[in-house]
Amino acid sequence: HSQVEKNLRSPICCIMGHVDSGKTKLLDCVRGTNVQEGEAGGITQQIGATYFPADNIRDRTRELKSDAKLNVPGLLVIDTPGHESFANLRSRGSSLCDIAILVVDIMEGLKAQTIESLNLLKMRNTKFIVALNKVDRLYRWKRCQNAPIAKAMNKQSKDVKDEFNWRLSQVITQFKEQGINTELYHRNRDMQETFSIVPTSAISGEGIPDLLLLLVQWSQKTMVEKLTYRNTVQCTVLEVKVVEGHGTTIDVVLVNGVLHEGDQIVVCSIQGPIVTCIRALLTPHPMKELRVKGTYLHHKEVKAAQGIKITAQGLEHTIAGTELYVVGPNDDLQYIKDAAMEDTRSVMNKIQTTEKGVYVQASTLGSLEALLECLNTSVVKIPVSGIGLGPVYKKDVIKASAMLEKKKEYAAILAFDVRVTSEARELAGELGVTIFCADIIYHLFDQFKAYINDFKE
Ligand code: GDP
Ligand code: MG
Repeated sequence: HSQVEKNLRSPICCIMGHVDSGKTKLLDCVRGTNVQEGEAGGITQQIGATYFPADNIRDRTRELKSDAKLNVPGLLVIDTPGHESFANLRSRGSSLCDIAILVVDIMEGLKAQTIESLNLLKMRNTKFIVALNKVDRLYRWKRCQNAPIAKAMNKQSKDVKDEFNWRLSQVITQFKEQGINTELYHRNRDMQETFSIVPTSAISGEGIPDLLLLLVQWSQKTMVEKLTYRNTVQCTVLEVKVVEGHGTTIDVVLVNGVLHEGDQIVVCSIQGPIVTCIRALLTPHPMKELRVKGTYLHHKEVKAAQGIKITAQGLEHTIAGTELYVVGPNDDLQYIKDAAMEDTRSVMNKIQTTEKGVYVQASTLGSLEALLECLNTSVVKIPVSGIGLGPVYKKDVIKASAMLEKKKEYAAILAFDVRVTSEARELAGELGVTIFCADIIYHLFDQFKAYINDFKE
């Protein structure tokens, strides 16, 4: 039991890449589920975490390498809604992810969003593997369900191989233009200098065994120190969600340490730190994603690395994307409360508001950052006078209504991926505040632009 000797935790892996490159589908394929078709506009806007136990990975990779040594308990994969969330998934200043999969559509090559992802990865110094996805779309590709890529490639005609090689070399050139060396993974002799490319199909599963094995083997080989389990709790809030029968819960990623039922914890909200006690620690069944509905497993304690749903009192205003702290018997509570607020304070300080502008409300600190960034850089600039996180309440409508006297068309709330309470909606109707709701940023823009145009006429 080498994993016990070395005491490694599961690596945490992010999936990044251009919209529609197949991030969700790739995870679906590994899991054998179908989350992708249930998403808003097919676009992932929230974060999920899936735990793949080592046994499962062994099963999937048997045909590729039956005697592969897996020294980690499993792999925890986070399906981010895109670069915005990755930016927010920081853990005490560095990235939460140990390793990333950068998905590139073989038919499209690198796109603007791929390059953005690449820059984030560089900035955080996160190692990644390129999944060159959709190989099944090569003309006359012969399917080899879930086969290792070399085996699948051997089955292809010369024409398919030629097209593949041509597209591959284009992608390698595009990476080079970004200052990144890449190479097909089985040809890659120097994984320190050159990033590996694994051709995959998320539809028929070719190359998935290669991707899984490479992820695990590369991380356990080169990140021993980072992956050595530590007792100090390191935990990030991914999502805040109301669950029937449980009230407001938080989905977290526990990177290190152990959480127990009854632990006193501190998380942060706009109003200040929240001090509460863990009522229940829930995990989905292995292989099922945290956000898929179903029965949960209850635990007395959970050891890292894991995705966990926590139920506790008073979590309503927790800000997603921030750190969770555990108060130990000898800890100074005030010190921990200050630490919990630090991250949020720094993000909020960066946000620029003006006297005349719309009110913006979003679900997480990350989505708020992303939304504001888009508002700032869009062709039609939309000034912001106020911001909020979480559901839209009456108080938010009241704040937005201040614009009725200053600049009438800005008496509006742009609500991204959040609920609007019925009282808030009612009050907005009475006061003349317009609320725009969407769970895709671009839809929110379109609605607002149409409204502003109407206003001018
Ligand atoms: P995401 O935006 O990166 O999460 O992309 P999705 O997983 O939602 O996939 C976008 C579209 O591409 C969907 O219609 C998928 O069915 C399709 N798709 C994803 N992966 C593959 C693949 O390997 N082969 C083919 N042919 N289609 C794919
Ligand atoms: Mg997706």
